[in-house]
Amino acid sequence: MSTENFDAVDIIGIKRDRGTLTPEQIDWTIDAYTRGAIAEEQMAALNMAILLNGMDRAEISRWTTAMINSGERMDFSGLRTPDGAVKPTADKHSTGGVGDKITLPLAPLVAVFGVAVPQLSGRGLGHTGGTLDKLESIPGWNASLSNAAMMDQLSDCGAVICAAGTGLAPADKKLYALRDVTGTVEAIPLIASSIMSKKIAEGTGTLVLDVKVGSGAFMKNVQDARELARTMVGLGSDAGVKTVALLTNMATPLGLTAGNAIEVQESVDVLAGGGPADVVDLTVKLAEEMLAGAGVHDADPAAALADGRAMDVWRKMISAQGGDPEAALPVARESETVYAQADGVLTELDALSVGVAAWRLGAGRARRQDDVQAGAGVRMHAKPGDVVRRGQPLMTLLTDTPEKFGRALEALESAATISAEGSRSGQRLILERIAE
Ligand code: URA
Repeated sequence: MSTENFDAVDIIGIKRDRGTLTPEQIDWTIDAYTRGAIAEEQMAALNMAILLNGMDRAEISRWTTAMINSGERMDFSGLRTPDGAVKPTADKHSTGGVGDKITLPLAPLVAVFGVAVPQLSGRGLGHTGGTLDKLESIPGWNASLSNAAMMDQLSDCGAVICAAGTGLAPADKKLYALRDVTGTVEAIPLIASSIMSKKIAEGTGTLVLDVKVGSGAFMKNVQDARELARTMVGLGSDAGVKTVALLTNMATPLGLTAGNAIEVQESVDVLAGGGPADVVDLTVKLAEEMLAGAGVHDADPAAALADGRAMDVWRKMISAQGGDPEAALPVARESETVYAQADGVLTELDALSVGVAAWRLGAGRARRQDDVQAGAGVRMHAKPGDVVRRGQPLMTLLTDTPEKFGRALEALESAATISAEGSRSGQRLILERIAE
């Protein structure tokens, strides 16, 4: 006889018939699935019912809490300011985009102002790159830290970017793998609870969400992005984490690079006071939000990029994890250039096409176990709004394996739109701010 409190088939039936799950039913579902008492096919059916029929705020909040409770919670209350107060913590999460290297300059930048930044990050899958993949192109840099090493580094440098340990929200790991193969990744309640369970378990006091919108993002339109952002902000607030979300443009890649080592180099350019304007602007805006959430209102992050203070923290942070911040970065062995086909204004450079090309060149992985090439990717020579001339280089494709050029070029066939001069239209970078 079963000793379980509920029956998985009954729970699936409730969601199938558009009912509401009770807190006890949700707690049991997550716990029983993690223990193996709910079969994969039953959880797949429940996920699909949630995708089709949704969950209300209380259900999503409880679902998230249950996932947090499946694992450990980190605690940074031991970090102190020089006068003995608890040090504020702030973190940023991006829903993923092409050329999104913002975490790299952002974490050291925020740390300049005395706010600790515990940035637990992941590896890339598909056309969006992963922060750890990028940083691993720095010779010697190590992504895996014990909790104790992470705390030490936060005390010493104020910022750490490292791999999330397996102890945070293990229910999410199992559930995400199942969603990946059952067409249920796209359910907003499941995305929101997946992201927020890990971020809340990570123990940050302030969280800034960069919800990407456009062809290169998970969310292709503003309505869906807004719903996801509102749901996540609500979950953060319910858990006592100060949370705001920015909806930002991912119709075109961020900056002029999409890859690994080339994105690190662009981040270092930003930390040296240069770099592309969109990368600088978004880094500064997100820093301002993180600092405001952490109670620091008189900071000037743009000045800390310009005068080298953020670079000093970056060097310390990279060295603390075994990396050599002065070492030459890996360079791809082969390159191929894509030229402008006409005179005019580059009105579009499609983020998804560039992301897929970088991925096919070897910068990303198709399966979790694949390796990535440090030097691979796409370097762009123009941004939407720029005037271009027929025959000028638009993009340089980089890889160690030239047989990959063909498929990458296919992805880029209609990536660039060049229109008659005069049709220049700027694309806004920050579309909306969402807070409670
Ligand atoms: N990222 C996550 O961590 N979870 C999702 O469900 C989607 C994106």
